[in-house]
Amino acid sequence: MRQLQATRIDELKERMTGEVLLPGDEAYESARAIWNAMIDKRPAAIVRCIRTTDVVHAVNFARDHGILLAVRGGGHNIGGSALCDDGLVIDLSRMKSASVDPVARRVTIGAGATLADLDAATQVYGLATPVGINSTTGVAGLTLGGGFGWLSRKHGMTVDNLESAEVVTAAGEVLRASATEHPDLFWAIRGGGGNFGVVTRFAFRLHPVGPDVLAGLIVYPHAEAKVVLKRYREIVAESPDELSVWALLRLAPPLPFLPPEVHGKGIVALALLYAGDPKQGEPLIEPLRRLGTLVGEHVGVQPYTSWQRAFDPLLAAGARNYWKSHNFSTLQDGLFDVVAEYIGSPPSPQCEIFIGALGGATMRPAPDAAAYPHRDARFVMNVHGRWEDPADDMRCVRWARDFFEASAPFANGGVYVNFLTAEEETRVRAAYGPNYERLARVKRHYDPHNLFRINQNIKPS
Ligand SMILES: Cc1cc2nc3c(=O)[nH]c(=O)nc-3n(C[C@H](O)[C@H](O)[C@H](O)COP(=O)(O)OP(=O)(O)OC[C@H]3O[C@@H](n4cnc5c(N)ncnc54)[C@H](O)[C@@H]3O)c2cc1C
Repeated sequence: MRQLQATRIDELKERMTGEVLLPGDEAYESARAIWNAMIDKRPAAIVRCIRTTDVVHAVNFARDHGILLAVRGGGHNIGGSALCDDGLVIDLSRMKSASVDPVARRVTIGAGATLADLDAATQVYGLATPVGINSTTGVAGLTLGGGFGWLSRKHGMTVDNLESAEVVTAAGEVLRASATEHPDLFWAIRGGGGNFGVVTRFAFRLHPVGPDVLAGLIVYPHAEAKVVLKRYREIVAESPDELSVWALLRLAPPLPFLPPEVHGKGIVALALLYAGDPKQGEPLIEPLRRLGTLVGEHVGVQPYTSWQRAFDPLLAAGARNYWKSHNFSTLQDGLFDVVAEYIGSPPSPQCEIFIGALGGATMRPAPDAAAYPHRDARFVMNVHGRWEDPADDMRCVRWARDFFEASAPFANGGVYVNFLTAEEETRVRAAYGPNYERLARVKRHYDPHNLFRINQNIKPS
């Protein structure tokens, strides 16, 4: 199926307003490049949809001709599910128009938007909805898996703020899903990933945020990691929902606020945002400055959109990546021993361990309020195996896997679906948790033949 028959290509092109890219076309190579350079898939065709009717035609075409189908939002999925070999890719990256109703506090945005596009549209009005911490991530994939970031303790998961979506189903129907329209579909797309159709537009509830917020980094040496993490745990337990503090362990990048002798040395960086009046946040972050021997600090009032981009340089596209993830209900001392040991000898300077603090509003809904089930997760920890040279693949993957195994006894068994790698099929049920069976029933209704299967797949029951 690598080469689609010429007659079929003509049929596809005839109906599309967007481009149809084929192997050999100039733009094909860049269109098949996604965030993780480990992914090297060669689709038979990539359709760059411009409007919902393009998506409908592409879905009908793939279904009627039995062609494998993948859906690409921002292309960030670590396992490379935005692409498929030899099949058709629906690329939504041209569909990113946004409109904001500041009175109703709602944004409607195309499914090809990145977090940067979303934040740019809403911050004009001093409004925002909780999304992730890397601005080049796609709104679509992030939302469909659950979505969390700096605002989540205060305002919940991204799915908790979804009001409605336009969905193209496997039958080629265009449906509006909301609490009152196709509520089963609306429930399923809030955590069930891309299993139920192609979402073309999302409408999110917005909250007053910034536009200036108190945010930044407080940095300690790796030698003090265990002490710092223990005190970090105490502070997070007492923090109000407005304050989010994550811990990042890695070798220090050459940031201007760190003394040169620290560059390249192991650090624990506490990354924080206060989602409220910066004056009220100041005294709350003061204790974070007294956890050990401070090696650097860069905290201040800055535009929310700047902080949303703060980690982009460390997480730029084009590196080789292998990530593993666990959810935690508590952080135990034994975990800190494992973290300190592994980050003490990373196999590449870009490898890191991220501990993201959830809790707050993310834990208040019932586990079956939406398909996203992990209302018991106070922390999500990711090990980011990240490097440049393919010759280092084995070494770096092994390090991430070993750390993952060593930290497993302290985890709660749940995992965020958006952080699963391609070969973790055995963890798919843990990702959907107790909601799996209900998801399988909704899947049977909307996609009985599993057309949408290049994802963390739910089999139609
Ligand atoms: C650097 C980095 C930082 C991250 N930070 C965070 C974070 O802070 N918080 C967080 O919650 N997650 C985070 N993630 C995880 C992120 O949520 C997932 O990688 C997510 O899959 C990205 O969505 P995407 O649209 O960019 O990806 P894609 O690879 O384009 O899409 C992923 C999958 O989602 C489905 N999909 C995408 N678009 C659609 C659509 N319109 N309709 C139907 N299905 C669709 C498809 O199954 C697709 O395979 C991060 C990932 C990376 C790489």
